[in-house]
Formats: sequence, structure tokens, C-alpha cells
Amino acid sequence: RQALDSPLYPLLDAAAEFYRQALKGHPARQAAVNYLKGRGLSGVIARDFGLGFAPPGWDNLMKHLGGDSLQQKAMIDAGLLIDNPESGKRYDRFRDRVMFPIRDSRGRVIAFGGRVLGDDKPKYLNSPETPVFHKGQELYGLYEARKNNRDLDEVMVVEGYMDVIALAQQGLRNAVATLGTATSEEHIKRLFRLVPNILFCFDGDQAGRNAAWRALEACLPSLQDGRRVRFLFLPEGEDPDSLVRQEGAEAFRARIHQQAQPLAEYFFRHLMEEADPGILEGKAHLATLAAPLLDKLPGANLRALMRQRLGEITGLSGESLGALASSPTNDV
Ligand code: ATP
Ligand code: MN
Ligand code: MN
Ligand code: MN
Repeated sequence: RQALDSPLYPLLDAAAEFYRQALKGHPARQAAVNYLKGRGLSGVIARDFGLGFAPPGWDNLMKHLGGDSLQQKAMIDAGLLIDNPESGKRYDRFRDRVMFPIRDSRGRVIAFGGRVLGDDKPKYLNSPETPVFHKGQELYGLYEARKNNRDLDEVMVVEGYMDVIALAQQGLRNAVATLGTATSEEHIKRLFRLVPNILFCFDGDQAGRNAAWRALEACLPSLQDGRRVRFLFLPEGEDPDSLVRQEGAEAFRARIHQQAQPLAEYFFRHLMEEADPGILEGKAHLATLAAPLLDKLPGANLRALMRQRLGEITGLSGESLGALASSPTNDV
């Protein structure tokens, strides 16, 4: 799946080390340190996640690592340098940013995320796709979560780097983040190979709620009986980072315990917002929306139970729901 022994790994590792050292000792480091402190991060957690600092300037990393043109070519392949073929200029991709190293499941650095120290745009810059970094597959924090939990049984999926780190600092050490991409079926398959339970906790905004439904759809093909998926919806305007810092770990755990909705519950609640089950047309629409999704469930028992529930909501019998699922769409 990945280049097993790519020369990009030592390069990325050396870059991570350079950024870490810069956060400790570069003359311009104070702005980054203040930024991280201002967001409530401890030095311990920063070290744990290997956070770093890309200093301001166009060629700090290039000067540090880039010897000959062969080395620079490798740095371009690794996403560390940008090469402008028109001007012939090469320069560091990440400048004046807090750096988050992204690791694969074996702990090797495969990419970076970098955040500006203020409100400039773009807020985050991620490594591009490279031979060792495939965005739709990787989950930020998964290596750290496994390292810190010998018997991990649930993973919490969040949106952002800072969510993962803030939760970990508060002792919730099982969070991982999709990196600005939608949760994919590939992500879910990977997670279910490691744990039987997944909890989604996206931002309390429209984008987060849309992401939750897409995540549900991505889960269906992997949801065998014995696996459990839940969704925690946060108050408007909050994300896991802001909320866990505000209310602390215990309250956040209680929130999960009391408010996390099992997939089946969220499934019907969401569809009943899409289609009004109070009228026959709504019931028909609801069945049309639900049936093909339920067909994706590999777990025969959960599938049967959810079809039964759909039958209760719509008044349609099991047989007519089955017919609905298997009937070809008729052209008008
Ligand atoms: P912060 O708390 O640092 O302001 P956030 O993590 O809450 O940021 P969101 O806007 O909620 O930021 O975005 C969630 C995640 O999506 C980010 O952590 C980042 O991984 C990714 N992301 C956001 N904006 C961008 C961008 N412009 N380019 C690439 N990825 C992005
Ligand atoms: Mn968001
Ligand atoms: Mn945030
Ligand atoms: Mn956010």
C-alpha cells in the first residue's frame, strides 16, 4: 500500500527534528511558544506529539537539509519544498507556522500540518499527497492513541489537530482526526481492524453536522454485528478542543456517556428530519431513503432490527420493504 522503504522517511524525520529544535531554540520561537501556551497546551503534551515550529523565512529547512540537487528533489517529493518551474525558485513549503507531524501506524513521520500563529488564511496548510502520504487513509493521532492505550477499545474521531491534542492533554487519549478530508470507508476499515467501537465528535456547526452524516454513510459497509458506532453532537460553536478546555475531562466524559447517540438512533432521527413521518408521502420518502442504506449493512442482525424499526415508523411490512430494496427503478 505504501512505499515500504522510501528514502523520504529519513528526510521527513529530519524535518520533524528541525521543527522541534526550532520550537526549543530558534530566535523567533517565542511567538510560537506563546501561541501554544495561549491555547492551553503544556510543554509535556507538545513534546508527546512532537510539535515544532517552522521559522519565518523562505529557506530555513532547505538550508538545513538541502545539500545537492538530488536531496532537494527528494525534499520536493516529500512535500517539504515547493518548486516553481517558471521562476526556477525553490522554497520551504512551511513558514512561520506551528508544525504537527503526522505519523503512520508505525510511528514514522509521513507528512505535516502547519498552523499560522494568528488568524491569517489559510489557517492550516497540509503536506500534499506524496508517495508516503495518502490523505484519504491516514488519521492524525492514531499512532499516539495506540501507543498510549494498550487495550484501546474505542476511538474518537474528531476534525482537527488541536482537538486531538487538547483531548489528550485532558486525559482523553483515544482521539484521531481526519485531516480536513471527509471520513472515508478506508478510514473506517482501518479503525475497525483495531477497535470494535468508534465515536464521532465533530464541530458544533453545519459543516460538522454534514460531516457526521457522511461519516455514518462511510460506516455502513463495515458495521458488522458486534461493532458499535456512536455520534456526539456538540453545542453550536464549540469543537472538542474548546469544549474540553472549558468544561474539563470529567464533564466531557459525562457528555459522551449521556448524549452520544448510537448510529441507529441518529440514522432514524436524521431521516425523520428529511422526510415527515407524520404523513404518508413522508413515510414513503423515508422508506425510499432508508432502504438502500440499510442494504449496505453487513451485519444481518442489525440490518433486520433496523428494517423492523423502519417498518414501525412507516407502517410498511418487512416484505414490502424488501421488495422496495430489490425492485429496479422504473423509468417513466
Ligand atoms: P483551530 O482550533 O486551530 O482554529 P480547527 O482544528 O478548529 O482549528 P477547523 O476549521 O475546525 O479548524 O478545521 C478542522 C481541521 O480541518 C483542521 O484541524 C485541519 O486539519 C483541517 N483544515 C482546516 N482548514 C484547512 C485548510 N485551509 N487547509 C487544509 N486543512 C484545513
Ligand atoms: Mn470545523
Ligand atoms: Mn478549533
Ligand atoms: Mn474546529
